Amino acid sequence: MISTGTNIKINKIANSRIGEIDPANIQFGKNYSDHMLIAYYENGAWKEPEIVPFTNLNFSPATTFFHYGQAIFEGVKAYKNPQGEPIIFRPHDNWKRMNRSANRMAMPDVPEELFVGGMKTLISLDRDWVPQGDDTSLYIRPFLLAIDEFIGVRPAEKFMFMIITSPAGPYYNHPVSIYVQDQYVRAFPGGIGFTKAAGNYGMSMYPTQEIKKMGYDQILWTDGFDHKYVQEIGTMNVFFVIGDTVITPDLNADTILAGVTRDSVLTLLREKGVKVEERALSIDEIAVAHKNGQLKEAFGTGTAASIAPICALTYHDTKMELPPLEQWEHTNWLKKTLADIRYGKVADRHHWTEKA
Ligand SMILES: *Cc1c(COP(=O)(O)O)cnc(C)c1O
Repeated sequence: MISTGTNIKINKIANSRIGEIDPANIQFGKNYSDHMLIAYYENGAWKEPEIVPFTNLNFSPATTFFHYGQAIFEGVKAYKNPQGEPIIFRPHDNWKRMNRSANRMAMPDVPEELFVGGMKTLISLDRDWVPQGDDTSLYIRPFLLAIDEFIGVRPAEKFMFMIITSPAGPYYNHPVSIYVQDQYVRAFPGGIGFTKAAGNYGMSMYPTQEIKKMGYDQILWTDGFDHKYVQEIGTMNVFFVIGDTVITPDLNADTILAGVTRDSVLTLLREKGVKVEERALSIDEIAVAHKNGQLKEAFGTGTAASIAPICALTYHDTKMELPPLEQWEHTNWLKKTLADIRYGKVADRHHWTEKA
């Protein structure tokens, strides 16, 4: 064991498994890099974190998170800049969001030094796992679990924070076909839609499986009262370009996950002088716009997919097709602009990227 300046004990792997990856064909989530970070919370305090070789874990079957889902996570990415250095995109924003999730789920705050500092130490150690090449990145998965060995129902007292990482190639390589869901509901005011809680994903599996069987890629979730107001697509924030205005649902009802990509897109569009609106948007308004030829572009945003163009929306029996992708002004510009910043190809005026 060696100790670092940030008090992280590091136990290095004897032989790197980097040879496992085929750099020309990286499949998301198939390989995990050499090391992982692990830290325990007990008696009201965080213990010293450790970085150890990636390995399986051992738990009592009575462990809380297995049963009651007190579990949250984050998704961050590191990219190789032209100098071959790993840079991480907006990790402090993910840190803040993790603690918003933690708060709602009665879990302890993760200290900034553990989340961001620990991440940087881990990425620095596993820098060879950050792929170099268009559309590639290292996906970083921090997560927090309740680990009391107690099957009774109560907020846990012991927690485990971990970070694992996985090399990623392009996530969606085709425009997504969307089914507008007005039967199942993802989030409602007072619920946990704004958190990155594991349960939000668990509950989406069945509805998603059903629409995949019907030939669609993702669900456009609508609100729980009128089943009209759009929320998100799958696990991405959603944007529509109607006429010359870019519209995305606002965050006021706590039903929408405040995406870091969403915020980046809004910032870049506003700086460019594009008309942007964060407000309630109904599927009826989208349908009317489509009928009038005013629905110009639509896309999802998220760390995994970056910008995912939508080729069609199906609402009941109506399929709304979007114009050919080549004509999309905003989406194509955003995709390139965001990629240039993430890969450190242009000056980072917003200080969004941080060296590992
Ligand atoms: C993670 C996530 C997003 C995207 O957030 P980013 O910070 O942009 O990755 C959007 N919606 C949901 C439901 C999510 O879980």
